[in-house]
Amino acid sequence: RAADIECKLVVLGSGPGGYTAAFRAADLGVDTVLVERHATLGGVCLNVGCIPSKALLHAAAVIDEADAMAAHGITFGKPKIDIDKLRSFKTKVVGQLTGGLASMAKQRKVRVVQGVGTFVSPNELEVETADGKKLIRFEYAIIAAGSQSVKLPAFPWDDDRIVDSTGALEIKDVPAKLLVVGGGIIGLEMATVYSALGSEVTVVEFMDQIIPGTDADLIKPLAKRLGGKLKGIHLKTKVVEAKATKKGIEVSYEGENIPATTVFDRVLVAVGRTPNGKKIGVEKAGVAVTDRGFIDVDTQMRTNVKHIFAIGDIVGQPMLAHKATHEAKVAAEVVAGQKSYFDARVIPSVAYTDPEVAWVGVTEREAKEKGLKVGVGKFPWAASGRAIGIDRTEGFTKLIFDEETHRIVGGAIIGPHAGDLISEVALAIEMGSEAADIGLTIHPHPTLSESVGMAAEAYEGTITDLY
Ligand code: FAD
Repeated sequence: RAADIECKLVVLGSGPGGYTAAFRAADLGVDTVLVERHATLGGVCLNVGCIPSKALLHAAAVIDEADAMAAHGITFGKPKIDIDKLRSFKTKVVGQLTGGLASMAKQRKVRVVQGVGTFVSPNELEVETADGKKLIRFEYAIIAAGSQSVKLPAFPWDDDRIVDSTGALEIKDVPAKLLVVGGGIIGLEMATVYSALGSEVTVVEFMDQIIPGTDADLIKPLAKRLGGKLKGIHLKTKVVEAKATKKGIEVSYEGENIPATTVFDRVLVAVGRTPNGKKIGVEKAGVAVTDRGFIDVDTQMRTNVKHIFAIGDIVGQPMLAHKATHEAKVAAEVVAGQKSYFDARVIPSVAYTDPEVAWVGVTEREAKEKGLKVGVGKFPWAASGRAIGIDRTEGFTKLIFDEETHRIVGGAIIGPHAGDLISEVALAIEMGSEAADIGLTIHPHPTLSESVGMAAEAYEGTITDLY
């Protein structure tokens, strides 16, 4: 069969991985086709993930800040919420970015094909478009087809009161009673938004702490502050059934200190994401997929089939946009003949809750499990002039050092702006910095970033000042 489109490179999926790969390849002179099933580019992150959630979290933060100022003599009154306007703000933010991507694709002469793509051979992708099937013949392919929310089978998904993160981000309205199933990053971010907008929010988490996997001390201040705002956070609790009734969604649980059943107006299920590896016909191209749907790659992002690459959520954890973009550049550069490879030492993670939680590299938990010889430098924000000035002293910054070399191997921060502050720690790890390098770096005063220098000084035993 004759191909409808011939190209050197086809990229499947236009999320942070896909658009970055397509743009980088085009910049290096590679004739590139980008296939996306949705009308807008940007994938989960820009359309229904990172970006709309942060726009809504900004609104939540302003509401909470205004509320907190009452204790210091400034009262704004109860916020009046125009949900349609808030939704328009979110839509405008998303539109600005996805529209920007469309023009960047045009500028670079990346051909965008809208439709659902499926591999039919090692060098052909068939795309189901509005004008029928189109066959794309390629020399190289980069798979960036991402992931989707896990749908728990215990829930009646045909009822629109049960939503995943995409449904929750639509903010159709503000439900009086919201249940969030899953106390991970996405669940807690959405709980923060809806609680600020006025919903009574309950969170249930199967594991013994929120944001499972992080150090227990790190999430303590978050659990405390959230606990004061939400109806409840129930750990070690499992939802066993959810029934759609006229009154609402009737949920039954197994767990301690929780009623057997409760009725909610809406239920958000945020229990993780699953890769799309088994939905794109890659087996026809000879690409191996794991049982869970991930595609294994080497450090050049090549799959077991040498001319087919994979990047982003579909290749494994952590499922984060900034991992996808860096992997994307590597894959595109290798296609263009460069000798690039992915060798990031660490990838930071951030929960954009209030307070924010951010961590990078080795955690104390991991150090203990692996028997690593590490030491910790911790700086409580109660001793930070800036944190006191903004009345947010619950946070802290901790850095983890290799005891032999005093090189930094990890770090974690909780408090406002932790997500921005963690970059310095990531850079220090990438640069192989020692505690003294960080402690001797002059940080501007009074900033929250000083806490990074102070934590290093605390480790070195050279800390003197209390700001
Ligand atoms: P995706 O963004 O999933 O894009 C894949 C694209 O492929 C999609 O557009 C899809 O339509 C398309 N596609 C799939 N199959 C086909 C096919 N057969 N044919 C055509 N097109 C196809 N990460 C962060 O780093 N920071 C955050 O703050 C953050 N917040 C998040 C909040 C939420 C609510 C969610 C759900 C996720 C969040 N993430 C965040 C994760 C982030 O969105 C993902 O890690 C990132 O989008 C992965 O990029 P990707 O390119 O691998 O795939």
